[in-house]
Amino acid sequence: MSLMKNVWVFSDKQDILAEICAGAHQLGERVTALLIGNQSTADEVIKAGADHVYLMGELDGSRMVEDFLPTIEKLVEDHKPELIIFGNTKRGKLMAGRLAAKRGTSVLADVIEFAEDGTCKRRVYGGAAISTIKSNAEVAIATVGSGVFGPQSLDESRQGTTEKVEFIPADSKIKCLERRAKGSVTVNLTAAKRVVAVGRGFAEKEDLKMAEELAELIGAEIACTRPIAEGLDWLPRERYVGVSGVMFKPDLYIALGISGQIQHMVGCNQSKTIIAINKDKAAPIFKQVDYGIVGDLYKVLPTLIEKLKAGK
Ligand SMILES: Cc1cc2nc3c(=O)[nH]c(=O)nc-3n(C[C@H](O)[C@H](O)[C@H](O)COP(=O)(O)OP(=O)(O)OC[C@H]3O[C@@H](n4cnc5c(N)ncnc54)[C@H](O)[C@@H]3O)c2cc1C
Repeated sequence: MSLMKNVWVFSDKQDILAEICAGAHQLGERVTALLIGNQSTADEVIKAGADHVYLMGELDGSRMVEDFLPTIEKLVEDHKPELIIFGNTKRGKLMAGRLAAKRGTSVLADVIEFAEDGTCKRRVYGGAAISTIKSNAEVAIATVGSGVFGPQSLDESRQGTTEKVEFIPADSKIKCLERRAKGSVTVNLTAAKRVVAVGRGFAEKEDLKMAEELAELIGAEIACTRPIAEGLDWLPRERYVGVSGVMFKPDLYIALGISGQIQHMVGCNQSKTIIAINKDKAAPIFKQVDYGIVGDLYKVLPTLIEKLKAGK
């Protein structure tokens, strides 16, 4: 693959920025990170894969992530990288869209693969089809989700350069008045090797304890389908898998009471091994798994847990 000379990356989330920095090396000779943070965050980003960091300042007072847009616009206009990748967080998407509008181009949204000929692939129709697209813009702008480049490790010995840049204040009509911590536990599902995922086959929130017990026994993270996190609100949104949630490639994915709709499966169908328990033998998930157990999870799970405990 002929590498691009300069690929830039931005994310308002440090873990996603690190992941994209490392992955961007598959695309560009030199990876530059646009960072909201301080010197110690810059050092971490360099260890993750950035060759150069533009340190744009910190999120303090009423300053919001989108207020960094004029600073980014100026840097992009001055240096014109071939590609700039935004992590597809809510803010990342917003920034990518506004930068693209400013530059008179469009965003290569939710890219899942960059090909050698400069084209990229993205899922369409809720994940049922793949479209191949290419940007002819002077500076191509893309958004990429967590998990696309896979988990990356830090290289403590990596060296890079940091350059402080002047923050250009935004002429924004919106000011941040207050910041309050969500209080929820943060989870990085993309780093998990084993995952136990729950779906609407569970009748009560209380019953998720069975899944948690299984997860603990095998050292797995808990994930879920969208209705469990959005609607039932039994688990935080960070834990739902699929086209609009987390996409990842764990070694083992155990789906409990999950029907296997495409919008969910695109998030996990790259897992090395998928096991499903579902009481409906016609459930679509059985066409997409390595091992399937047709049965009531309320009977199968306690037996499985008992056997695992006995084997310990
Ligand atoms: C634009 C769009 C985006 C979406 N994005 C996502 C996404 O990112 N992620 C996502 O997950 N969904 C997403 N969805 C929703 C998705 O289409 C499905 O509705 C959802 O994934 C279904 O969740 P589920 O499998 O938990 O529930 P259901 O489809 O209701 O399936 C429950 C399953 O449990 C089984 N079951 C019931 N009782 C038992 C039992 N006792 N023992 C064993 N099995 C049992 C049933 O047979 C059934 O197969 C999206 C939808 C749209 C329209």
